[in-house]
Amino acid sequence: MIINGKEIAQKVEEALVKQVQSLKERLISPSMALIQIGEDKASTSYAKSIAREAQNSGIYLEYHNLPSETPQQELLSTIKKLNERKDINGIMVELPLPQHIDRDAIIEAISPEKDIDCFHPINIGRLLEGNARFIPATAQSILETIKNVSPVIEGKFAVIIGRSNIVGKPTALLLMQENATITVCHSHTKNLQSIAQMADILVVSTGRPQMITRSYVKRGAVVIDVGINKVEGRIVGDVDFEDVKDVAGWITPVPGGIGILTTLMLLKNTVKAAKIQNGISW
Ligand code: NDP
Repeated sequence: MIINGKEIAQKVEEALVKQVQSLKERLISPSMALIQIGEDKASTSYAKSIAREAQNSGIYLEYHNLPSETPQQELLSTIKKLNERKDINGIMVELPLPQHIDRDAIIEAISPEKDIDCFHPINIGRLLEGNARFIPATAQSILETIKNVSPVIEGKFAVIIGRSNIVGKPTALLLMQENATITVCHSHTKNLQSIAQMADILVVSTGRPQMITRSYVKRGAVVIDVGINKVEGRIVGDVDFEDVKDVAGWITPVPGGIGILTTLMLLKNTVKAAKIQNGISW
């Protein structure tokens, strides 16, 4: 069956709106700063979708679009000011950054309490310990989607193809914390097909258009396709959807699957930041 990302997103958004309203009743207005350096098309489009969702959910968004030649020191000083502001709960710097800027220095300059992207080493460390402050948005979207169609994750065998810091690794950690047995595969994995074929839950994040065909998929498996690839003018995933859809028990389409949820999860982290900074535990 095809997983309806829109339906899941609607539920997440409703819960988010309720939380924002409850905070506003306590005179707390969740807010985030979004910094974009330059005019990268994909970054601009992501910024627009964050702004739209923030407005729908009642979250205040402050957008800083700095020129691509902005010196690193100036960016660091912008982040420092945002770190110190009580009226800003979350800070996000859009990646990729121009070459003259050291990505790690920027990520580490963001206060861990405001790091809604969950890139700061302290937040990654907490995630690893099973004591997460924030959960990276894509991994959170993947887990939410799996739970919607397969509420019991405990004891399942999950295979994650791809070991990137933003998708594969945090997803593996989250699924392990849900008591799945996990295997993480990558470009050096031998017998990928036979490992994937054993998965009850198969998460694919390779950036290789439609590489996963039905011969990789166990009948009835939950297949989560994270890929977003432009091929001949249309967007396709890392899974060959048409080939796999009859074998999988559940499968996310691309577009219309994980991608829709990611922005909402970032806003969910903003609300969490507002709660933490105001000592609220619900
Ligand atoms: P990366 O390029 O950072 O990582 C790709 C991973 O896939 C690597 O670990 C790589 O292995 C592995 N890989 C590549 N080719 C193969 C192969 N033939 N067999 C097995 N493993 C392979 O990508 P991301 O994880 O950042 O992104 C992947 C896809 O997900 C992209 O299409 C991206 O656009 C999309 N994406 C979607 C998001 C969303 O919210 N929906 C968010 C982020 C990304 P190795 O480590 O050995 O190189």
